[in-house]
Amino acid sequence: MRVVVVGAGVYGAAVAAALARRGAAVTVVDGSAPGSGTSGASFAWVNSRNKQPLHYHELNVAGMAAHRQLAAEVPLGDWYHGGGGLTWGGTEVRERVDALRELGYAAEVVTRAEAMELEPGIDPARLPDDGIGYFPDEGWVEPVRLIGHLLARGVQLVTGDAVVAVDLRGDVVRGVRLASGVEIGADAVVNCAGAKAAEVAAMVGLTLPMSNLRCLLVYTSPVAVPLARVVHAPDVHLRPEGDGRILLHSGEIDRNGEVEKLVHAAASVYPGIRHATVESVRAGERPIPGDGLPVLGRVAGVRNYFFAVSHSAVTLCLHVGGLVADEVLGEERDELAAYRVERFGQA
Ligand SMILES: Cc1cc2nc3c(=O)[nH]c(=O)nc-3n(C[C@H](O)[C@H](O)[C@H](O)COP(=O)(O)OP(=O)(O)OC[C@H]3O[C@@H](n4cnc5c(N)ncnc54)[C@H](O)[C@@H]3O)c2cc1C
Repeated sequence: MRVVVVGAGVYGAAVAAALARRGAAVTVVDGSAPGSGTSGASFAWVNSRNKQPLHYHELNVAGMAAHRQLAAEVPLGDWYHGGGGLTWGGTEVRERVDALRELGYAAEVVTRAEAMELEPGIDPARLPDDGIGYFPDEGWVEPVRLIGHLLARGVQLVTGDAVVAVDLRGDVVRGVRLASGVEIGADAVVNCAGAKAAEVAAMVGLTLPMSNLRCLLVYTSPVAVPLARVVHAPDVHLRPEGDGRILLHSGEIDRNGEVEKLVHAAASVYPGIRHATVESVRAGERPIPGDGLPVLGRVAGVRNYFFAVSHSAVTLCLHVGGLVADEVLGEERDELAAYRVERFGQA
């Protein structure tokens, strides 16, 4: 079975690795370089803290488990970082902890002293007396290193050459044509083109409504701050980013682009951050299908064309990659039933 996967982000890499493991001959084509799309500019928090409805929560929980399992299996699989997530602010933390615990998600309310034990670099004055949540099973990923691992075995890679057309005859795809003019024959094509998935869907006449969102991430210089996990404070979200760098994000910076204000907010939580400078600011485009939920798996109208497109793909990629690979190889997966492209109303 010859499969062409369009896009070498976390989804393309995970689908390709799962297909290769199942014996398919896989070619991954990327118009740029692996990991150069949204996966290379992501907060990459592995979680299911606020995912609705229930089936989507469960899909994300399965995604979290798949990351822990892969990292445990692969020697030096240290692109995955556990350590849980810490959050405070707002009255809803306790309610969220209770609701998640009912679903079996590891969640607890911790005291200020316990939070300081976990994150001794925080200014204790910034922590409330009550309403600090800790979620031990969460983590974060270095997506580009994960992609490198997934593409390393049994996958043919074509880079710097975009797919510009799909050869569709009747309801069957026969291959793809690249910008260079090269044609690649295929028994199946998987659309993992992230924020550009609608363009690749249009190549087989499918409409994929997308509401992508452009966001900003701020990377500090290396700084000796003992930040060890994903932390969501009221005005700033933080996580480690290798060699002492810290990655900062907030909903507000996506709206106002005020980088200095975000760094100031971070330094008011972790005073040591005042010694950092801004090393880079990256824009990432969240790939978001029209109703916010993933578009995954087989398509009713085109027999051998498949999707793996969503937000939260860093969390989902390993688990979903396996399910999509099963469908490509002819085994329909009930777990994907809620995520068909047909829900947007096409035949
Ligand atoms: C600021 C921000 C924060 C985020 N935080 C989180 C988070 O905390 N947790 C989480 O799980 N998710 C998070 N996400 C979402 C997550 O990063 C994305 O869902 C994920 O990276 C998408 O991966 P992908 O493989 O679908 O797309 P991409 O990584 O964009 O890969 C798609 C690839 O397709 C290629 N391509 C496109 N068109 C073509 C074509 N015609 N031919 C060939 N190649 C093509 C591109 O070059 C690209 O490399 C965040 C995103 C952003 C922007």
